[in-house]
Amino acid sequence: MTVYFNGEFLEKEEVRISPDDRGFLFADGAYEVMRAYNGTPFMAEDHVRRLERSLSELRITGIDTGPLRDAAERLLMLNDLEGTNAAIYVEVTRGAAPRAHAFPPEGTAPTVFMSATPFPLLVNEMREGTKIILLPDLRWLRCDIKSVSLLPNILASQKASEEGALEAVLVRDGVITEGASSNFAAVFDGKLVTHPECELILSGITRKVALGLCGELDIPVDETPIPEESIREADEVMVFSTRKEVMPVIKVDDMTVGDGKPGSVTMKLQKAFRELVVRLCGA
Ligand code: PMP
Repeated sequence: MTVYFNGEFLEKEEVRISPDDRGFLFADGAYEVMRAYNGTPFMAEDHVRRLERSLSELRITGIDTGPLRDAAERLLMLNDLEGTNAAIYVEVTRGAAPRAHAFPPEGTAPTVFMSATPFPLLVNEMREGTKIILLPDLRWLRCDIKSVSLLPNILASQKASEEGALEAVLVRDGVITEGASSNFAAVFDGKLVTHPECELILSGITRKVALGLCGELDIPVDETPIPEESIREADEVMVFSTRKEVMPVIKVDDMTVGDGKPGSVTMKLQKAFRELVVRLCGA
């Protein structure tokens, strides 16, 4: 497998990351996961812009994101992923320097890594619906930054996996914020409700695309926090992410959502999302 590392294309086994790298020592870095459909990166500009914003908020400088788009396409080619569904992972850390919490000396070069790997669609779950569990949101107060510091997300995701759920959805101060690796939405009387963009959630690119499609489909949207207890009254529940696209949720903990089948608003949105992918990427 060929990867991109600090400006070079190398075999993955040839990559050497220093034990002084601040990504290793402190999870001091940011990342992105974007999807390529049929070899074409989807919403690439939005992902690059979000990476730039994460880096800027973390005050990681000295990165030119310009070549990353070309590097992503080259990785797809070098790994024979051109006609397929692939994930492109990009990580930038604050670089390697002797361990100290404060920033490293001026001029320390950031570490940049990128890979492309097969990323099949979750076809069965997308058709049949899936289960989520609710857990306390133990993350910091800058969830808008896509930081590689992911321990609360990891622990929540592991709990979900142990309980046979696809996702852990997080609750802070009695309100549903988002999933451990997705955004959350519910439908009440035909209206799609989702947490507003702010520092408590990641501004998901799938969420943004889905809300745009709601506009085209005349589905009313209300960007407002959803109290945990009102999920019992939701007609439909769904999560959005690059990996999960528009994913119907039919079970929340032990509670069945609606009649236990993916809801009509969710499926309308999922279909429109798939059609957009075909329009933009040809598959
Ligand atoms: N929230 C969190 C915490 C995530 O990790 C992700 C996945 N990147 C999302 C939301 C969804 O974002 P996107 O649609 O851009 O993949």
